[in-house]
Amino acid sequence: MNHTIQCLLAERALLPQGWRHNVLLQWDTSGLLTGVTPDSKPGSDIPSAAGPVLPGMPNLHSHAFQRAMAGLTEYLGNPQDSFWSWRELMYRFAAQLTPETLQAVATQLYIEMAKAGYTSVCEFHYIHHAAQGQYYANPAELSGRLIAAAQTAGIGLTLLPVLYQHSGFGGRPPLPEQARFISSTDWMLNLLAHLRRDHPQHAGLRFGVAPHSLRAVAPATLDIVRQQLHAADPSAPIHIHIAEQQKEVSDCLAQTGARPVRWLLDNQPVDERWCLVHATHMQAGETLDLARSGAIAGICPTTEANLGDGIFDGVNYLAAGGRWGIGSDSHISVCAREELRLFEYSQRLRDQRRNALASTATPAVADRLYLDAVAGGAQASARPIAGLAHGQRADFLVLDAQHPNLLQRQDDQLLAGLVFCQHGETPIRDVYAGGKCIIADRQHAAQDTALADYGKALKQLLA
Ligand SMILES: [Zn+2]
Repeated sequence: MNHTIQCLLAERALLPQGWRHNVLLQWDTSGLLTGVTPDSKPGSDIPSAAGPVLPGMPNLHSHAFQRAMAGLTEYLGNPQDSFWSWRELMYRFAAQLTPETLQAVATQLYIEMAKAGYTSVCEFHYIHHAAQGQYYANPAELSGRLIAAAQTAGIGLTLLPVLYQHSGFGGRPPLPEQARFISSTDWMLNLLAHLRRDHPQHAGLRFGVAPHSLRAVAPATLDIVRQQLHAADPSAPIHIHIAEQQKEVSDCLAQTGARPVRWLLDNQPVDERWCLVHATHMQAGETLDLARSGAIAGICPTTEANLGDGIFDGVNYLAAGGRWGIGSDSHISVCAREELRLFEYSQRLRDQRRNALASTATPAVADRLYLDAVAGGAQASARPIAGLAHGQRADFLVLDAQHPNLLQRQDDQLLAGLVFCQHGETPIRDVYAGGKCIIADRQHAAQDTALADYGKALKQLLA
């Protein structure tokens, strides 16, 4: 056997086309799969996986620094507590961050992601400048901290620097507490050029851009950023927050005469390169047209529940063939299984039915959810992470075959045990990203150092 090829034999593995047995996975030194061969014979020189193998899950939406404030806003601050009062607290917290504390928080978070089965993250990164908005000497000071954190954790990264210019529709001037986020269009394009020069892109690292929202970026600027991005990199991803809150919808209607998703579909060439995060508030026509566009709906169920955003219309969007993926966003929870479960449960609670997101083609609802979220997350990440197939990155999870929720399960019952049952320790035992084992028997080599650094950062941030 070629020494530059690594391999693993999985008694059961979930391929894009479904479960297969005795699957030989082979990958090269660049971490890409060179072979995925079902019905292979065990050989004495081929290591066996300790349990069923799943593709790693891409996390398509993250604001890393918010990990440090998870659970700190769960009390009644005023009788009208809402997304907007949460945002005020978040701004106060963001003002305290330093490059060192951001890196410590992100490293802890990305290790937690790896343990939870996320082998990759799209970071929607909007803090660029120092506390009062002063520029750092290096425009990529904070972006570089996130890249370093992902490297320490070993997960893949699609970094999406955020363009943020206004505090509301109609080009309203930014608020003082938004100073760390605010950049000119030229500054943002320069940052991207800087990042591409200093960090060559590869299967584990990609750059795109994130116009923050329609309220924070004017239409003409959106055109310029999109054109410049695609002139430099034609397939680079664009992510945008779109319709998270009813107020956002009514403000957009008042300013433009259209709801946010409708406005975007009518005024931008929305296609496979786009990810619309929190397309929560859509009318039926918007839902169908977004599904037809080929763009990704970025769904963040635990954050959307925590912030009281509303319920995404998964039933009609999926029935129309809409593509989607999951993100942990504010990191109130970092668990791919919980995001999938809550997505399905939100539909069940609203519609008073079961298995709402299953299809006749894939009646096992957990299988459908898992495979859809991997494919959609890969598209939003614009990297080759679309599951266990030739040419894709060797990002995969090895489940614990002895976990009580996985014992004695047929192929089409296995993922239901993972997604819908929640007992005891995590069934995710080992995690590979880019062919490297980053979690072995539920442990990460850097977890103790990362936790100590995170503790110091929190002490500083909460002082
Ligand atoms: Zn977000």
